[in-house]
Amino acid sequence: MPLELITIPCLEDNYAFLLHNAETGETLLVDVPDAPPIQAVLDAQGWVLTDILLTHHHWDHVDGLAPLLKSSGMTPRIIGAAADAHRLPALDLAVFDGDRVEICGEEAVVIDVSGHTLNHIAVHFPKSAVLFTADSLMALGCGRLFEGTPAQMWDSLLKLRALPDETRVCSGHEYTETNARFALTIEPENSDLISRVEQITAARAIGQATVPSDLGVEKRTNPFLRADVPALQAAQNMTNADPTEVFTKVRKARDSF
Ligand code: ZN
Ligand code: FE
Repeated sequence: MPLELITIPCLEDNYAFLLHNAETGETLLVDVPDAPPIQAVLDAQGWVLTDILLTHHHWDHVDGLAPLLKSSGMTPRIIGAAADAHRLPALDLAVFDGDRVEICGEEAVVIDVSGHTLNHIAVHFPKSAVLFTADSLMALGCGRLFEGTPAQMWDSLLKLRALPDETRVCSGHEYTETNARFALTIEPENSDLISRVEQITAARAIGQATVPSDLGVEKRTNPFLRADVPALQAAQNMTNADPTEVFTKVRKARDSF
């Protein structure tokens, strides 16, 4: 049985996620932007947290942790990057790039995705085809580069792009509509992108979340996964350019969009 996934809107535009194993009762929470909306879903489902994964140190992903532990009385295992232990809440399990750990009764693979911050991690559940990316790979976008270099982020995104198409990408924010308008300026003739943007506009008009998204769709439409794709390079007048240079240019353009 695949694990059950619930997306929880928090704060202005953040997402937290619950992953639940119905057989064992284990439940993972990914990021804690704010306690009340998460507590409400746990209460409604009758689920008890066994694990909490912190993807990176930013306040909008960790600040709900202490209030949630207090309000719930739960004592889950707290998982985060060993390299960031000094600026994360106290960790019970400090993980490294490439680690395979059992979470919710399934194997989960830790992937260093430095770029938005250094030591930001993504976690992939191959069996359930779920990938938690927070502020690394986002729906039609990627996180702003606060700590890492464009080369680091491009490298991180290539690791995620190597995963299977059918993977569900659980990213940390609902930024998709702005990302969509930007993506069209980069690759205006990408027909997959044009039809995806139509779907996004329709979904947002009725308040529907565009996260999680489909990794196969991201590969065909997300400009930040396409810096080495001939069609995008041609659209940018950068045919045969170094992909890192193309990525840098696209990321810079997004910063001022
Ligand atoms: Zn962040
Ligand atoms: Fe964030």
